[in-house]
Amino acid sequence: MSSGWLGLRDLIAVLDDEHSGTALRRYFAPGAFTGSQFEALGGSPKALHRDAVVAEDLIAVELLNARVPPGVALDLLQGDLGQRISDELRKIPIGVDLSDESARTYIEDGGPAELAWRLLTNRHGVNKAIAGKLLARKRPRLIPVYDSVVACALRGRPGFWLWLHEQLRAEDLLMTRMLRKLRVEGDVPTHVSDIRIFDIVFWMRHRGDHRSRGCPGLPNVGPSL
Ligand SMILES: [Zn+2]
Repeated sequence: MSSGWLGLRDLIAVLDDEHSGTALRRYFAPGAFTGSQFEALGGSPKALHRDAVVAEDLIAVELLNARVPPGVALDLLQGDLGQRISDELRKIPIGVDLSDESARTYIEDGGPAELAWRLLTNRHGVNKAIAGKLLARKRPRLIPVYDSVVACALRGRPGFWLWLHEQLRAEDLLMTRMLRKLRVEGDVPTHVSDIRIFDIVFWMRHRGDHRSRGCPGLPNVGPSL
């Protein structure tokens, strides 16, 4: 059973598996998964909307099978919550990758991304996955998409952002380089970030087998690999 996060070797083994490129191609095949349009919906990120949550962002979250409750949606689009989230987004450059050394400043406790995440998860009906997906839509290179399937596959614990940041940087960016290789093998659209490739590979690998209770996680992954 799970005893904490998968190690870097296990992560690399999954990413290096010949099926990972195939999984990415399947995910982005036209009409296969609505989530393949998560980043693309509404066109390329417009400067006007880089720091504001707009209606298209809420639809984008639904493409990932998550839903912002209607009352929270209204507060995001025309209320105080939207204003406060914008205040935090404004402090986060658009070009920072989670693999960058500087990423930590934004995601650590008290950083703007963490503050925005806390503002969202404090609202009734907004769980960690929904909050993460909404912030990932605004800063796709910095904030990873994450849900219960991926958490289970990774044997995740709290602290996912910082954990992933460290894995991406470990051993001279080994995993980051692997994700960029997979981007080519999987013919992934350029607007899709490296960390989304990570999410999609683990989600595709585990979504069929995942059980909401008593799930053993990814099979055939462990110290022996
Ligand atoms: Zn599972």
